[in-house]
Amino acid sequence: MQKLTFVKVFKFLKNVYCLQSIRHNSLLQPAGVTSASCAGETKANKGLVLGMYTIDDDPGEVELMGRFTPAAERYNLLVGGKLFDVMKSSGPPLKKGKVRVFFDLEPEFSCVAVVGIGKECAGYDEFEERDEGKENIRRAAAIGCQSLQELKVLKICVEGFGNAESAAEGAALGVWLYQELRHKSKQLRLPLLDLHDDCDWAGWQIGLQKAAAQNLARQLMETPANLMTPTSFAQNAVEILCKSGVNVEVKVQGWAETQKMGAFLSVSKGSCEAPIFLELSYYGASYDERPIVLVGSGVTFDSGGLCLKDKIDMKYMRGDMAGAACVVATARALAALQLPINVRGLIPLCENMPGCAAFKPGDIVTAMNGKSILVENTDCEGRLLLADAIYYSQNFWPKFIVDVGTLTRDVKLGLGGAATGVFTNSDDLWDKIHMAGIHTGDRMWRLPLWNYFTKQVTTSTSVDIMNVGRGKGGGAAKAAAFLHEFVPCGEWIHLDTFGVMKENGVDHPYLRRGMSGRPTRTLIEFISALVCHQCP
Ligand code: MG
Repeated sequence: MQKLTFVKVFKFLKNVYCLQSIRHNSLLQPAGVTSASCAGETKANKGLVLGMYTIDDDPGEVELMGRFTPAAERYNLLVGGKLFDVMKSSGPPLKKGKVRVFFDLEPEFSCVAVVGIGKECAGYDEFEERDEGKENIRRAAAIGCQSLQELKVLKICVEGFGNAESAAEGAALGVWLYQELRHKSKQLRLPLLDLHDDCDWAGWQIGLQKAAAQNLARQLMETPANLMTPTSFAQNAVEILCKSGVNVEVKVQGWAETQKMGAFLSVSKGSCEAPIFLELSYYGASYDERPIVLVGSGVTFDSGGLCLKDKIDMKYMRGDMAGAACVVATARALAALQLPINVRGLIPLCENMPGCAAFKPGDIVTAMNGKSILVENTDCEGRLLLADAIYYSQNFWPKFIVDVGTLTRDVKLGLGGAATGVFTNSDDLWDKIHMAGIHTGDRMWRLPLWNYFTKQVTTSTSVDIMNVGRGKGGGAAKAAAFLHEFVPCGEWIHLDTFGVMKENGVDHPYLRRGMSGRPTRTLIEFISALVCHQCP
């Protein structure tokens, strides 16, 4: 297959943000998203999503109808002005985020959804720290596609709305839902998606890849814990990644024992499911280039152990392997985009259960780096998995380390579902991941990695470190301070994703209610941008 080089220039305010040069296979299709050309087909049950800029916020102009996007205007001319006529006669001016569907305007498309996209001039919002223009596009594409999906439209063509990548993200994220275990007759069919009347095919493909990665993370997180044990997670990872060009090594309990991963193994003792440690490797650059190491916490079910959670909290703990899911999904996307970069993924997998051999509050375990850990709370187990995996990463001489895990309720108390909590020892990496979140709409927010918190977890006369620490509050910062004690050297980012684990279907309309798969797209964007900076 012919390989093409696509160069995308992202402009951010007046500054050039990133020159992205990505070599990828032009025929590569993201898993879970099928694309087909819209041109020249005249089949029924084929829909089109178009946009209309709205003027919701201007009270002086509420009676005006708004303005079609350029693609919608061209379509309106094609149908002899019929789209304008039906829009005008269909009710009051279209509001942002609202959709109207029209039928049989011409032979090619059986239905056309027109979505209110918001203000034409929307862009970076310094208070929201988000590109509102891109977010509007994701929202519009998702709402338009969902409205046609409910009509059982089999193929949906979506205009680019001025940014085909964001349109693809919104469309592919918006139509996805977890329904594998429903009877086939009750499943909502996933439509084929394609770009309409836009030449940014590369942007569209990149957007589909990023969305497909987040959808993969959502699927892994949604799968119930009885079907997503450490073993079945490993089987899924092998099946998904090996055919994508990512090497997967599956390490068993005996291997972890030889590595003296006492912190990780202590968590697994209360379950009859054996722990597993996955090592992923994607080498898109020369072998002598240092890899980025991604570490994902993989607690496939977290009951809290002997410090048992209540039943409401436990209900969602199938998603406590979100970090692991995010790393698998990111690795697949990086390989699919054929980014010239080396990445290692480290994924400790186990259940946290209160079985008869379970670790107990008051136990002291020894981590791989020889530090003794006092287990004060068996429900603070994610940091124990990550501690050994982070220390193990030194074997690969990493360029830097990123760990991801749903570690603390405290981060949700502070940030809700608005942003991932970020702790890092590198201002440079913070700038880059912060910027990535601005572009993806899946935001990052930096929290302190102060010595104040380190003292709270290390000041003990009997052990080196405690898994909860002294004092009230600051749980997310204390977890980060705990992990910092196991970082071998160099730059490191810790992402606490507990707050962004679930979606309510309202805050991000392109994500239905359920497990979110966040912050997969931000991680991909962050690593992609690093490649950009390396380009000559
Ligand atoms: Mg826990």
